[in-house]
Amino acid sequence: MEFEIIAKDAMGRICRIETPHGRIETPTVLPVINPNIPFIPPDEMKNFGAQALITNAYIIYRTLAEEAVSKGVHRILRTDLPVMTDSGSYQLMVYGDVEVSNREILEFQKEIGSDFIIPLDIPTPPDADYETARKDLEITIEREREAKELNGISSLVLPIQGSTHMELRRESAKKAKEIGGDVYAIGAVVPLMDAYRFKDLVRIILEVRSVLRVEPVHLFGCGHPMVLAMAVALGCDLFDSAAYALYAKDDRYLTVYGTKKLSDLQYFPCNCPNCSKMDPEEVRELEKAEREIFLAEHNLYVTFSEIRTIKNAIKEGSLFELVEKRIRAHPNLISAWRQIKDYSPLLEDSDPRIKKRFLYCGIETLMRPAVKRHLESVKQLDFEKEVIVISTDLGVLADIYVRPVFGPVPAELLESYPAGHAEIPEAEFIEKEALEMAVENLRDFMRCLNDKKFVVHVSGRWKDFVKDLPGECEYVLH
Ligand SMILES: [Zn+2]
Repeated sequence: MEFEIIAKDAMGRICRIETPHGRIETPTVLPVINPNIPFIPPDEMKNFGAQALITNAYIIYRTLAEEAVSKGVHRILRTDLPVMTDSGSYQLMVYGDVEVSNREILEFQKEIGSDFIIPLDIPTPPDADYETARKDLEITIEREREAKELNGISSLVLPIQGSTHMELRRESAKKAKEIGGDVYAIGAVVPLMDAYRFKDLVRIILEVRSVLRVEPVHLFGCGHPMVLAMAVALGCDLFDSAAYALYAKDDRYLTVYGTKKLSDLQYFPCNCPNCSKMDPEEVRELEKAEREIFLAEHNLYVTFSEIRTIKNAIKEGSLFELVEKRIRAHPNLISAWRQIKDYSPLLEDSDPRIKKRFLYCGIETLMRPAVKRHLESVKQLDFEKEVIVISTDLGVLADIYVRPVFGPVPAELLESYPAGHAEIPEAEFIEKEALEMAVENLRDFMRCLNDKKFVVHVSGRWKDFVKDLPGECEYVLH
């Protein structure tokens, strides 16, 4: 499979994937199509922004096998978009059994001309005991090996399982990488998302990404616009979701801030074509079938609008800013995202060094690689003067200025990225963590200049923080 990274930000990227049915530009969401239940017709999916679809090969195998083999899956769905086919492991999770072997369903997916085929992996649910998860994973790996042997021109998607055992998720990723797939798909995470267990979700993604550093990664069953920016920033490229339809059937309305019940809405916070022409009261009065389509269409519009917002953020280097805003949708997203502090080398590895701007959005901003990199580069600088003047006040002539978040910023770097370009609230108004980090960085920097003397001008609220500096310091309070 041809795969090219064309832009990067945080751990997210815009990639191009070539398929026999055309190019997919990621990140993107593959809407789930049930071949037997006509809802939003697959040929309309392009109008919302879909670039590829996913359908269930097992359902087709059970109900439309002959027709599908003669016509191919694209004609069955009446689409010319690339199609990924799932193997029936979802049914395995829900019903505990499927009446098809791994080899049969893989051969079938190839026969019907699927662009992306998936072996019949075992989706071990969260919190399974270790032994069960390990045994399930062994079967999954065996089936992935079989898939590799059978694979032809279709791209091979290798699921990553292991329940909530991080060691097993890593093992699954390692084994899948050895086998060699085209796309790696993190599976069995829907129960985590349904329960708002985003911390577990984020940790699983980060563990998998620690093994699969550049390969295309798909996050199975994730398509809620509330989590997309975060998942992309952690390195997920592809998503699929039935959420647009499932939520619509339940009178629920997706937004980037979470899910709303139609019954609770007085106004639509959206300007998609549907929401622009009707208000919630009118939609509540529609017949159920019509209402479902209205909501499903809105759900698709908002999902792909968020995808475009994310891609634009990657292009302009502001994905961290977008995620730091989006996680405000739910406290569990905040805790989840803050775990990136445990994975800073990983983040460091992929985040571009130069960006246009640095906009402070809250204390998660302190965890961005740019902050640490700034300190490291400032520590490399040579200073000829014997006495170094440090000031928290830009109005005082100094060699080094102390800025919230970053700490020491040499005067000559006041105009450069990141610290010079940073848009940060004044010290008087910012969270104390941003000042504590600044002073900690300042101390670290000063320790590298142990033969110098310092004159330190301290003003305003900084007086509570700038103290106990190393070396010989003369303090001037303003
Ligand atoms: Zn709308």
